[in-house]
Amino acid sequence: MSKREAKKPSYGHDPANVDESLFSQRLVDWYRERARDLPWRRTRDPYPIWVSEIMLQQTRVETVIPYFERFLEEFPTLESLASADSDDVVARWSGLGYYSRARNLHKGAGFVMERHGGRFPETREAALEVPGIGPYTSAAILSIAYGKPHAVVDGNVIRVLARLYRLEPPEDRRVPSLETLAGTLMGDAPPADFNQAMMELGATVCRPRQPECGICPVREFCEAHNTGDPERFPFPKKKPELEFLEFALFLVRSKDNHWLLEKGAWPHIPHLWLPPIVTAGDTEEAGDAAWSRWLRSRKTGSLGLLSWEELGSFKHSVTHRRMTFRVFETVCEAHDDRLTHRATSSRVLQDRAVEDHTDEVGAREGISQKWVPTDAIGRIGHSSILKKALSKRNQLSLGLPRGDRG
Ligand code: SF4
Repeated sequence: MSKREAKKPSYGHDPANVDESLFSQRLVDWYRERARDLPWRRTRDPYPIWVSEIMLQQTRVETVIPYFERFLEEFPTLESLASADSDDVVARWSGLGYYSRARNLHKGAGFVMERHGGRFPETREAALEVPGIGPYTSAAILSIAYGKPHAVVDGNVIRVLARLYRLEPPEDRRVPSLETLAGTLMGDAPPADFNQAMMELGATVCRPRQPECGICPVREFCEAHNTGDPERFPFPKKKPELEFLEFALFLVRSKDNHWLLEKGAWPHIPHLWLPPIVTAGDTEEAGDAAWSRWLRSRKTGSLGLLSWEELGSFKHSVTHRRMTFRVFETVCEAHDDRLTHRATSSRVLQDRAVEDHTDEVGAREGISQKWVPTDAIGRIGHSSILKKALSKRNQLSLGLPRGDRG
């Protein structure tokens, strides 16, 4: 049975009135004429396509382009990525967010080196075994790099399909069927062009707000356009309730300008180097208590605290979480593991439990700590949270010190 004869899924509107070959021809012609010239579209090599597809998840094209180019300069081949240090990979990702993508990409590169001799697998089954590769990414890489007829279904494609057929909710449960539907529309069109055309149409013409139906190459096939209500589709997903969280963030600096950073300690971003972050309220006591709790949990002793200053606060949002960070700068005696217990601040001396502990750094399992000199901060994988916190110190720009107080 050819793809054209495959059973069509049936939704609110019957797609039977769509001539797939005419649809895909109009769409692909439009794409070939109007497609944006993007760096990852100039190749059929699966490796850069893979990198671009991972970077483009949750991130806008304009944002991705410079990261993509820098990443490939640093790791020009799958082999170079696979053999890189994971901190270096995350460092090249710094600023893009959603860092588990970088870690999975790195892991995936190692997997492909080991299992497939460095060449991205050509079958869907094998592609789905690669760490970090799901149904969307596998369809995108296999169709664009190898011309395999797997239809992609991302947010843009869902929107186009929902409008073409006036699909009613709940859509999420239909995603496998949406892939079938998109595959039916693809028909015998070149998969690489068809898939990219669908995504391009959703990104540039069939936008969430004010779709430009007047210039849409497939408007004659579109039910929502015909009924004049495209913006009704797709139905919005129920948004998770907003969660408001408050934290104290400690810029722990030694006298000789090294900064204490941790990895694996803060559950919201476990894979990046961050300053110590502790849940806290907005009172002065809350900041003190947070510092003491952090010291106790790390068994670091007092760190020889010399001074303590609250620098202000900033906000940071990740998905439905609205986070407020109070930033404290704490200047300490030493920056190495031989931490002094000579606490000069009464706020620490008052906390007897602190003095009872050892001077071991990184005492808790799964948490890494290191002291980083100011001029090296920009070279490690850091979150924008660190950048925002450091911006509270006027004299310091990330990795480019412009004088210091200490
Ligand atoms: Fe989207 Fe309008 Fe084109 Fe329909 S006609 S696919 S709503 S841009």
